[in-house]
Amino acid sequence: MRQKAQLVRLAPKSYMIAVKFCIPFQRQPDTMADRSLSPKSIPSRRPCLTAVLRMAGLRPTRQRVALAELLFAGEHRHVSAEQLHAEASAARVNVSLATIYNSLHQFREAGLLREVAVDAARSYFDTDTSDHHHFYLEDEQRVIDIPSSSIVIQNLPEPPKGTAITHVDVVVRVRRSE
Ligand SMILES: [Zn+2]
Repeated sequence: MRQKAQLVRLAPKSYMIAVKFCIPFQRQPDTMADRSLSPKSIPSRRPCLTAVLRMAGLRPTRQRVALAELLFAGEHRHVSAEQLHAEASAARVNVSLATIYNSLHQFREAGLLREVAVDAARSYFDTDTSDHHHFYLEDEQRVIDIPSSSIVIQNLPEPPKGTAITHVDVVVRVRRSE
């Protein structure tokens, strides 16, 4: 029997680096202003993101690639399903909110995103999958990063027998003080 070629599965952190390689393949604000460049002369990030999705073990469907293009567009970001849905509609990517939810969770399970749950009803998805913590700005319903080095976690309890701690999420909730 012929063996299927094995896809190389990377450690979750490596996907972040892989996705970074796709970022230069996008329209930069400078090139937008440069009229000598037609939109066709700017390479698409799609082949690169398709490869990253495959590496992460996800079938690169048209919808997944389109969502990856919106998610991994440059700077790290924290996005809710509703925000991504609005961005998809604006970019004429026709996907239901339910599909967005499913895709975000699939991306998370594959190690492409990290989930930051601020309460039972609200989750943000972080394109930075490295260890770090968050402020939740309650008035703005927005999540921003706290560098992991600025919080020291001590005296963690022994994890239950047969388990190991994967990571510790700290969400510091803040509200405008005046
Ligand atoms: Zn973050």
